[in-house]
Amino acid sequence: MIRDLSTQRDETRFEEFKPPYGEHQARIEAERCLYCEDAPCIAACPTSIDVPQFIRKITTGNFWGSARTIFSANILGMSCARICPVETSCVAACVHNEQGVAPIQIGKLQRFVTDHAYGEGWRYFEAGAPSGKSVALVGGGPASLAAAHELRRRGHACTIYEKRELLGGLNTFGIAPYKMRADAAAAEAQWVLGIGGVELKIGVELGKDFGVDDLEGAHDAVFIGIGLGDDTFLSLPGADLEGVQGALSFIERLKLGRVDLEGVEHAVVLGGGNTALDAVRELAGLGVNDVRLVYRGREEVKPGYAHEWSAAKMEGVRAHWRTQPIEYLGEQRVNALKCLKTDEAKRAIEGSEHELRCDLVLLALGQQTLGALVAEAAGIEIDAGCIRIDGSGATGRPGVFAGGDCTNGGKEVVNAAFEGKRAAEAIDRYLMGEK
Ligand code: SF4
Repeated sequence: MIRDLSTQRDETRFEEFKPPYGEHQARIEAERCLYCEDAPCIAACPTSIDVPQFIRKITTGNFWGSARTIFSANILGMSCARICPVETSCVAACVHNEQGVAPIQIGKLQRFVTDHAYGEGWRYFEAGAPSGKSVALVGGGPASLAAAHELRRRGHACTIYEKRELLGGLNTFGIAPYKMRADAAAAEAQWVLGIGGVELKIGVELGKDFGVDDLEGAHDAVFIGIGLGDDTFLSLPGADLEGVQGALSFIERLKLGRVDLEGVEHAVVLGGGNTALDAVRELAGLGVNDVRLVYRGREEVKPGYAHEWSAAKMEGVRAHWRTQPIEYLGEQRVNALKCLKTDEAKRAIEGSEHELRCDLVLLALGQQTLGALVAEAAGIEIDAGCIRIDGSGATGRPGVFAGGDCTNGGKEVVNAAFEGKRAAEAIDRYLMGEK
């Protein structure tokens, strides 16, 4: 059974970082679009949303049609409008940038129309005529939701197997609350499944309660969209001290309930990626006075987005670049981090030992891969912990497909939405006996 979200969630303490457009603002912004013939903003979107077309429909007040253009390409268009890194994708590709003119705010326009569609209760797609075939989808995150929706449009029965009691995957558990809250992600999952005909098996886990061969015995095809696993930890001395935690599990706690920050005055986040940048901004937003990022490389080579780091700095976050932790210090609870400085190649510099005061350490060093859960299924190949697929989403095992983070190692939600839909199209061809 899907459970309801708690009403007592720390994420509700955050204001939206990008407030939504009203209708007047949306129309004015849409009027600035040049409706480019060979629009680079389309090519920059993994789901190839016809950006100029959906924007043009806003100018004529055809919000229904505008939202349909978006959802036709990406059924998760509502969440992607909020969380896509548009500053490095479609907005970065807008031709206005070349003229020194402010680029079109594509994400905010997409949000305006998709929110409008949700608010009006509009639905766009019906389930296809029953094909008599059934597909198992493992995982209830973005990839599986997008795949299930596309499969239902083609008339195939779907069953989602999810180990948690909430759907939406990282959209629900891991998105910074100033971008999107868990209730919006849960509402999107319900809206997507509103097409009907998707059975849910909740609280069951691949590799524990069932295997790939069990699914093959009960269904005609299988889609694996299990995402990634728990936070990666560093095995340093003192790792079991109180106050040393994974960043994603911290983010999940604040999104679904309360986090205990009593007595925390100095927090450090290890890592330079986008989860680390989300975590520092969240800690600052929850009122921790001294929040610092600790990263082994230079600022210029950190993997996190520059615009996110700029926002973090504006919120008072500081950083220790070229710094490598070697030990957590403290009695029962961590009270300092022992570190070395690193050189250009991120190698530790001897004799550079120093301590950083902290009473909370969040590790944002990536997530564990889950390919081992299916490694024993003959024909499925694992590459660096990820499930290997071809350009359609097929694994080497006939009838078994995969997509999303468990195949790409961790990309954006829009990539998972694309890969889920692409795999659904390939599954349809497989079920219908086409090459
Ligand atoms: Fe409009 Fe910019 Fe896309 Fe051209 S590139 S269609 S101006 S959003």
